[in-house]
Amino acid sequence: MKQKRGQLIILSGPSGAGKGTICEAALKAIPNLKISTSATTRKPRGTEKNGVEYFFLSEAAFKKKIENGEFLEYAKVHDHYYGTPKAHIVQMLDKGIDVILEIDVQGAAQIKEKMGYGITIFIAPPSLQELQERLVDRKTDSAEQITLRMKNAQTELKQAQNYDYIIVNRTVDQAVDDLTAILRAEKCRSLNNLEIIQEMLM
Ligand code: 5GP
Repeated sequence: MKQKRGQLIILSGPSGAGKGTICEAALKAIPNLKISTSATTRKPRGTEKNGVEYFFLSEAAFKKKIENGEFLEYAKVHDHYYGTPKAHIVQMLDKGIDVILEIDVQGAAQIKEKMGYGITIFIAPPSLQELQERLVDRKTDSAEQITLRMKNAQTELKQAQNYDYIIVNRTVDQAVDDLTAILRAEKCRSLNNLEIIQEMLM
């Protein structure tokens, strides 16, 4: 039987909804799963390192990569560019590895259009008040940045209805359980297993 392509999982949601924490926990809990490292023109925060959380690029370097067609998608979010490098992701999917992209709503729409497949999951906070508290508690953003992120959250929440699934992040454990359940159910889609049935019918 030929190698099955990995699943492309697109996670979006407002900044502070807990996408990063959920991804970290999911990588430990779910086998055969990798997360893509995006490129950005924003400056590293706290202990962030180049090549770990992001590839931190100058605006000129980022634009060069756009020109060279190196991104699967890119978008301007909170005044900075963010983009998904193409080559590595296509390689992983071809090897049958499942890949998570943690990207904003504009990027998710571009991927769905370009790739024609992918499971889109929106991570929502339980409330706006909780979202603001999480942004304040993580102490990585200025008051001005938090105001901008809360404003952008409204725009992003409006897009949630276009996603295949919505996970409300009340606790990380429950959110990772939900994510695991979605990925298992997606693997059992009839389209993903028809080949086995067809072999039995030959
Ligand atoms: P942060 O600066 O908090 O790490 O991320 C800000 C926003 O950029 C988040 O909504 C995150 O999902 C989004 N983002 C991160 N990487 C990418 C990317 O490669 N493409 C797009 N379109 N958005 C991204």
